[in-house]
Amino acid sequence: MDCTLTKHGLEQGSCQIFDFTAGKMRKACDASYKVKDGVPYRLINAIFLSRPEHYLSIYQSGCNLACKKCHSWQFSQNAVGEWMSPYDISKEVEKYLNDYEITFVSREQATSWHAHELCKSCGSCVLHGTRSKRCPGVLGVDKIELSEQGWGPARNIVAFTGGDLACQPDFYVKSAESIKELTERVWVLLETNGYGLIPDTLERLQQAGIDSFWLDIKAFDDTIHRKLTGVSNTRILKLPAELKESGFVLELLSLVIPGWVEADQIGKIATVLASVDAEIPFTILAFFPAYKMIDVPTPNLRQMIDAYNAAKDAGLRKIKLGNVHLFVKTQEDYDVLEEHVGSESV
Ligand code: SF4
Ligand code: SF4
Repeated sequence: MDCTLTKHGLEQGSCQIFDFTAGKMRKACDASYKVKDGVPYRLINAIFLSRPEHYLSIYQSGCNLACKKCHSWQFSQNAVGEWMSPYDISKEVEKYLNDYEITFVSREQATSWHAHELCKSCGSCVLHGTRSKRCPGVLGVDKIELSEQGWGPARNIVAFTGGDLACQPDFYVKSAESIKELTERVWVLLETNGYGLIPDTLERLQQAGIDSFWLDIKAFDDTIHRKLTGVSNTRILKLPAELKESGFVLELLSLVIPGWVEADQIGKIATVLASVDAEIPFTILAFFPAYKMIDVPTPNLRQMIDAYNAAKDAGLRKIKLGNVHLFVKTQEDYDVLEEHVGSESV
């Protein structure tokens, strides 16, 4: 496959993945993407109703980045899975709509962030017949479904996640078109590192009916970003403004990685976001050791509260901390956290 990014004068992704069939490293767009008889295919590792997002997640193999901290490296850095066409994807969406009691949400709520406003996945209402203390109390028990990752609703959202190949947009364009042909009542979301999203691609994705983006900005400092991912973040930092301008629903995600990405960088990423729209949801996740960063510790409670405060000081109004179990070990920790950030941000 020709690299769409170098054709536009940009740097190729850090996109060498292992192809077991060939027994060697190959570009992700050669090992996990193909076009046959004019139809784009993608290697898909898994598809299921994911928690805590409460939507159908399509886990793709192969990625245009090679992040040292990748939590999905088993399939983002190795070509594994089943070849699927846009038609196959629409059949999976159809099955999802038939198998579950769907909870319909508005397009503005087509984010991962809005999931926690509906259900915290405790399952108490189904298992014990009473709501837990943390339950938002919004959904009837008939809307709470059991899936591979636990209890919660099944929202009318389908997300492409795992490895990211936005640099070869045909598969996403055709898949979005097939899904929208099936029904206009399902929102299509791309979870992305942003690297492949050049202006031409954004226009095509918008016309195809993609509704929403969950953009993962991995560092503000360009040198750190390159060390973490293999590429520069210059273009990625411009995306919040471009995505909003193009009418997409947008949310952001960043990880706190001790010694790599701490409160100062989180604050700067939040400032970029707040300059576009202070209402854009921002999830700050605690890193856990993975892939090539198994020696880096998880952040502690103080580091996470500092990161929250930096995002708040930048002006953002919808901030949520994630992977709380990694930095909250006791009830006392939880009380301290709640006192500083409020229960709605946990
Ligand atoms: S995977 Fe993407 S970045 Fe890498 S060569 Fe292919 S098109 Fe270019
Ligand atoms: S962009 Fe995401 S899936 Fe791809 S290597 Fe980085 S963390 Fe993994």
